[in-house]
Amino acid sequence: MRAVFQCTECGIHYLPPEGLVYGDGSPASPLWCTEHQSVMRERGISEPPSAAALALLAARRRAAPPALEEEPARPDVRPSRPARTRRGAKAPGGGRSKLR
Ligand SMILES: [Zn+2]
Repeated sequence: MRAVFQCTECGIHYLPPEGLVYGDGSPASPLWCTEHQSVMRERGISEPPSAAALALLAARRRAAPPALEEEPARPDVRPSRPARTRRGAKAPGGGRSKLR
């Protein structure tokens, strides 16, 4: 599963290619989306290595399979008592027998 990153500038989630290298060979940033990466490049700002490492770690953790403890599938729980049959139920049509 690929890691999803969140741009630290605009907050959008983006999905850089695996290996963090775009199709044209340019490196993807774990901190910035493509737009902000190019903005930062224009401004001459390079990503702080520690922040980049953290972002990479967080994204990989999110992409990792969920926790080890997985609740075991519960067996189908059914009532232990059998359904009650209505013993005293009158036979159909047997109501109002006083009117004989
Ligand atoms: Zn952005």
